[in-house]
Amino acid sequence: MNEATIWRFLKSQGMTDAGVAGLMGNLFAESGLNPKNLQNTYEKKLGYTDATYTAAVDNGTYTNFVRDSAGYGLCQWTYWTRKQALYAFCKAIGASIGDLDAQLRFLMKELSESFKGVLGVLMTTTSVREASDIVLLQFERPAKMNDSAVQQKRAEYGQTYYNQFAIMAAEKGDGSKMKYTSANPPMKCFMRQSSWYKGAGKTTIRGVLWHSTGANNPNLKRYIQPDDNAADRAKMLELLGVNKSGNDWNHISREAGVHAWIGKLASGDVTSIQVGEWDKKAWGCGSGKKGSCNNGWIQFEICEDNLSDPVYFEKVYREAVELTAYLCKLYNLDPQGTVTYSGVKVPVILCHQDSYQLGLGSNHGDVLHWLPKYGKSMQTVRDDVSALLVGTNTNKEEDDDMDVTRFKELWGEMRKELQDNDSSKYSEEARAWATSTGLIAGNGTEINGEPNYMWADILTREQFVTVLYRFAKKMGMV
Ligand SMILES: [Zn+2]
Repeated sequence: MNEATIWRFLKSQGMTDAGVAGLMGNLFAESGLNPKNLQNTYEKKLGYTDATYTAAVDNGTYTNFVRDSAGYGLCQWTYWTRKQALYAFCKAIGASIGDLDAQLRFLMKELSESFKGVLGVLMTTTSVREASDIVLLQFERPAKMNDSAVQQKRAEYGQTYYNQFAIMAAEKGDGSKMKYTSANPPMKCFMRQSSWYKGAGKTTIRGVLWHSTGANNPNLKRYIQPDDNAADRAKMLELLGVNKSGNDWNHISREAGVHAWIGKLASGDVTSIQVGEWDKKAWGCGSGKKGSCNNGWIQFEICEDNLSDPVYFEKVYREAVELTAYLCKLYNLDPQGTVTYSGVKVPVILCHQDSYQLGLGSNHGDVLHWLPKYGKSMQTVRDDVSALLVGTNTNKEEDDDMDVTRFKELWGEMRKELQDNDSSKYSEEARAWATSTGLIAGNGTEINGEPNYMWADILTREQFVTVLYRFAKKMGMV
């Protein structure tokens, strides 16, 4: 369904639940979340339906898409420059003008390039109404946008999406609001040619330690490149981009290594990439006078930009929180907890600078030269990770064994329980009549000397017509 796809996509871009809901309420008001939606008044005027208009634009038989002033797609793009940009974007990636994924990506492009203020709110707000209003007033700008009834209506649409996706996911407690799960782990690009990968042994996992690179280069390709002989080398290079200077970390000369990196792919999308097994000992935070958090702390680097872009910061922060929550769930770690290591009480979640303060790392400032600029700290990290984990029971393993075979087994077990003579008093007369007239027969086995009638079991359509047939016969109808 479009709504779930749209919710997941926008969440993956770093928007808050309220931000996504407020935006989606507006998209619903504009297009009913139908990416092929042609503004209704233009269907008659132009003689097209949603489908025929889309096809005619795609195959070139209709050439006035940009200038026809007809609202189109998820956002009902209308003004010619925006329709022109949408058209160019879809053409460039070889997608139909009505393609949902292409329109979502174009929507993000518009927001991040031309509506940064709107996007900033969508990534931070906890109010559906605030998100809905800013999208309405600054992004969609329809004719009646100042009508308070219109504003309220759109926020109400948004609230229904919030209830449907944000609240239900939390109540279900299945971790479905987390970006990464054991069924959907982060991308992998193991760097087996590095000294770290070859040389580091295993460790016991105790927590998660955040780094940031300390250099202005947000691109993952600066640090990550696939092995020379990796089976997916071509695909990974396409995703990452090629590091032409060859100074990535997948070399024998690199005497350092962390488990994962967060930064930009060639497409500009922010993501996490795992580059080695989580239980490998990191060569990340160095050591202090009491020892090293390399023993037991899973470590990742966030690629820094010039530290002045709030949108990039929100994206990487969100991504790092998601990755940390995933690891906490995977290894049953308490995000607010501490562990005693080397005689020191160490937070389960900490950063490189924290490890230095505890005598368990080298003197680097990361990530505390960056997070406070945007009102974040390692405590907001712990709180945000806890919030993601709410309802997911970290003490229990996920029920990964449920598949069709297992379901059939359970279904069979349940039916077996229902196949006896258990029944309620109210139906006594009816049961006596049905058995005495032969409408219902037992299944051939006996329970306590009585035929087993399986009163609580399900009735198939085949059995149903047989009962009807016996009844009709009895009534002389057949
Ligand atoms: Zn560091």
